[in-house]
This record gives sequence, structure tokens and C-alpha cells, in this order.
Amino acid sequence: MALVQADNATALLKTGVEALRVNDMHKSFGPHEVLKGISMTAHEHDVIAILGSSGSGKSTFLRCINLLEMPNSGEVRIKGELIKMKRLRDGTQEPADARQVERIRRELGMVFQQFNLWSHMTVIQNLIEAPMHVLSLSRREATERAETMLEKVGLTAKRDAYPIQLSGGQQQRVGIARALCMEPAVLLFDEPTSALDPELVGEVLAVMRKLAEEGRTMLVVTHEMGFARQVANRVVFLHQGKIEEEGTPDEVFLNPKSDRCRQFLSRIH
Ligand code: ADP
Ligand code: MG
Repeated sequence: MALVQADNATALLKTGVEALRVNDMHKSFGPHEVLKGISMTAHEHDVIAILGSSGSGKSTFLRCINLLEMPNSGEVRIKGELIKMKRLRDGTQEPADARQVERIRRELGMVFQQFNLWSHMTVIQNLIEAPMHVLSLSRREATERAETMLEKVGLTAKRDAYPIQLSGGQQQRVGIARALCMEPAVLLFDEPTSALDPELVGEVLAVMRKLAEEGRTMLVVTHEMGFARQVANRVVFLHQGKIEEEGTPDEVFLNPKSDRCRQFLSRIH
């Protein structure tokens, strides 16, 4: 079976180098504790599928990793480097070194459910904006890189189109290309296909599968169980802000230890 061979090849690729480590992350909104101590490590080339019911904290977890939300406590390390935080008098925390956060954020490429492309810019402009302004690439360098990434997602022909002229699937592929243009160490996907009409889901998953085969490190919040089973090498099931179950796709899908995970999987299939 080709798929099994691909999995083995991915396993052999593994170098054991740590790309992302989260240790005991907690996050509350007011009195509501949404993340109750989550720890997770992604090594280079890992593709980790994050599953869980709506409201279980999946988006909050991704947003706390790249500090779009400030976790109340817990450590985040990117490629071994700890993001330094300082505790404030009211018990919350904030980054101790804004420049470090800026640098480290570049290592995390985020792909959102709602694409979030700039509507007044063409595809190529959407792609070169951050590399020019955040990475200080020249327009030429940024354009060359953007063209390479557009080719990767199969949208070279849409280079000068505006987002509104694209289908949802094409917009999301631009969203992925935009993340790739920053050359991040880890790609974070938050339900990248949930906003798409069913017939457009496949083209986005195909791009993501290709990225996985290239060995990119990916955390993917998804309800696409086929993708989780076939492409991820690890599956994590969140329930009410905690990791309720984790393992290889076979362990989690064929033999879940937790009743809640089993119920979730039977509902979603
Ligand atoms: P999921 O992505 O798994 O559906 P979320 O991380 O979006 O879950 O949300 C987890 C819980 O946190 C939900 O109860 C949600 O209402 C709450 N929550 C998320 N963001 C905020 C926010 N900015 N303010 C208050 N509550 C929030
Ligand atoms: Mg969510």
C-alpha cells in the first residue's frame, strides 16, 4: 500500500529535532478556563492532527502558541528557544521581549478558516507584503519566492487576480502560499477547509498533503478524518481544554482508550 510506504518514509525522515514544544499551557477568559494544562511537542516533519468538539479549545490553543492570545501560564519553545514571558501584578503575563516575539512569530505560519486575504490586493501583492515588510526582502526577492509558492499550490495563473475573483478553495490555497512565503518552521492550520463548499475541500487537502510529503512540520485542527488518518503521524483529541487522547492515527482511530474520543469519532464518521 502506497500510503503505508509514505508513512514509513516520513518516519525514516524524522530527525528528532524539536520544532515546537508547549508545556502545561493554561488559558482562561474571565472565569472560564479554556485550556487546562496542555503539553505537546512537535518534532520536525511531524504532522499532528488536533481533533475535538466545537468549544474544546482547539483554536485557542493555536492562538496561544503564536501569542495571538496570551496564555495565562505555560511555556512555548520554538526550535528549542523559550519565549520569555513576564508576569504582571494582576497575575496575567505578557512577552518580556517584544522583538523576540516578533522574530519567533515568523517561524509560525498560520492558515485560518476564513482565509483572511487582503481584498484590495492581488494574489501576488498578498504574498509579497509580509516578506517585504517583515523579512525585509526586496520586491524582486519577495516576488520570486511568491511565484515559487504559487506554483506549489497550483495557482500561477491567478497571480494578478483579486481574491474576490477566486473560489474559496483557490483563496485558501493562496492563504497557504502566503504562510509558506515566510518560510516558517511550523505551519498552524485552524480548520482550513471548514468554510469551503464540499467540492472545494479536496484541492486544499491535496496541497496540505503535498506539504506533509515535503516534510513540513504541521499542526492541523481539522474535522477531516480521512486527512487525519492518512496524512498525520500523530493525532491529539482535545476535550474541554485537556488532551483526552493521543497517539498514532491507528491507535486513536482503531482503538481509542477514552470513551469521549470514541463517541466523538462515531459522531463524526
Ligand atoms: P474550538 O476551536 O475547539 O471550537 P475555541 O478555542 O474557539 O474552541 O473556544 C473554546 C472556548 O473558549 C469556547 O467556550 C469559547 O466560547 C471560548 N472563547 C474563545 N475565545 C474567546 C474569547 N476571545 N473571549 C471569551 N471566550 C472565548
Ligand atoms: Mg475553532
